Amino acid sequence: MKNLYKELWFQVMTAMVMGLIVGLVLSPFGLGVLSETVVEHVAPWIALPGNLFLAMIKMVVIPLVLSSIILGITSSEDINFLKRVSMRIFPYFVATTMAATAIGAGTALVIQPGNYIDSTLIADVMENSPEVDTPVVETVEEQHLTDRLIDLIPTNYIKSALNQDMLATVILALFIGMAMVAVAPDRMKPMFEFIGAVQDISMKIIEWAMKLAPIAVFALICNITMRVGVGAIVGMAAYMGAVVLGLLLLLFLYLFIVWALGRMSPLEFLKNIGSVQLLAFSTSSSAATIPLAMTTAEERLKVDGPIARFIIPLGATINMDGTALYQVCATVFLSQVYGVAMGPATLVAVIITTVGASIGTPSTPGVGIVILATILQGIGIPPSGIALIIGVDRILDMTRTTVNVSGDLTASVVMNRLLKNIEK
Ligand code: ASP
Repeated sequence: MKNLYKELWFQVMTAMVMGLIVGLVLSPFGLGVLSETVVEHVAPWIALPGNLFLAMIKMVVIPLVLSSIILGITSSEDINFLKRVSMRIFPYFVATTMAATAIGAGTALVIQPGNYIDSTLIADVMENSPEVDTPVVETVEEQHLTDRLIDLIPTNYIKSALNQDMLATVILALFIGMAMVAVAPDRMKPMFEFIGAVQDISMKIIEWAMKLAPIAVFALICNITMRVGVGAIVGMAAYMGAVVLGLLLLLFLYLFIVWALGRMSPLEFLKNIGSVQLLAFSTSSSAATIPLAMTTAEERLKVDGPIARFIIPLGATINMDGTALYQVCATVFLSQVYGVAMGPATLVAVIITTVGASIGTPSTPGVGIVILATILQGIGIPPSGIALIIGVDRILDMTRTTVNVSGDLTASVVMNRLLKNIEK
């Protein structure tokens, strides 16, 4: 008990509470120590340690994911390991993402958050935001499906890496890992050592960044509290409630899966993943939580090293159930707000698009909403819809990221158990 202050979860929790309090004191929407214009100037400085922390993580996330997945695949030195994991993990990811989207659609259809929106708020948003940037819309919509499939293979990987394209990184890592296992192991020795060193270097830099974590969390939470108006939250309460309820239901589904397929007590699971969830919540970045999630899976959840090191970075990149749930929920909500009819066929199309899109969504703050713009465009919801929900997006980003990482940890526990069963 006396070393409580040394625990990461305690530090992050304290930083969150302090960030919230200081944010409320300074915010023009709270005690109002600072005016709205002063907040505009001060906020970037307050957020600085948080953004430095995220930038440090972003700097090494590509080498970290690349090396972790390659080492995860190769450490078993067995091509069958890869076959066994892949045959299970990809269908598992797709199935849980489908379930997430169904839950998102369900909560939005039952709660009907669109009916609780004040029409003056919509008119205001329409008037004040004629131009909402939806950069990915044309590229994704105009491409033929076959081209999109071909594009999955990163033919110009350097370019993909420069664009921080995580999916391309995962795919390249899968190929390199498989090839290394297929080639005679003694020929690969220098490669193993080199890639191991790359992983060690990335982890070291992340270890330094993690020293900043509590200050970063304080900074990020204080900044958000200062900027998000209480009015915005009240006006959007039904919508936020629908998303958060959906995410909670999904979390319960994970706990059930952990118990039924992973044979682990849900309470024990929750107790062990608390720090990872808090870090995800406060940073809104699954990528930032990869190292902590990997060590948590290995050391606390007792998942085998190769499985944890393969599934956590893979899941952080392509398995975003919380994001998928949120995207469907937001789409149904906006269709209600704008009176765009959404029949079962459209809903199914939205679900399929979302499952696909969540695979390619980068694991950094605020990207889920950009991808959402593409989905909205596809079914004829005006882009100003994004403007309506963007004000409260950071809070929902925090909650969906928490669920995203919980999903990856669930997957690692389940795969650990399933693969062990097969080996017996
Ligand atoms: N921030 C999320 C994540 O890192 C992605 C999103 O914006 O939904 O998992």
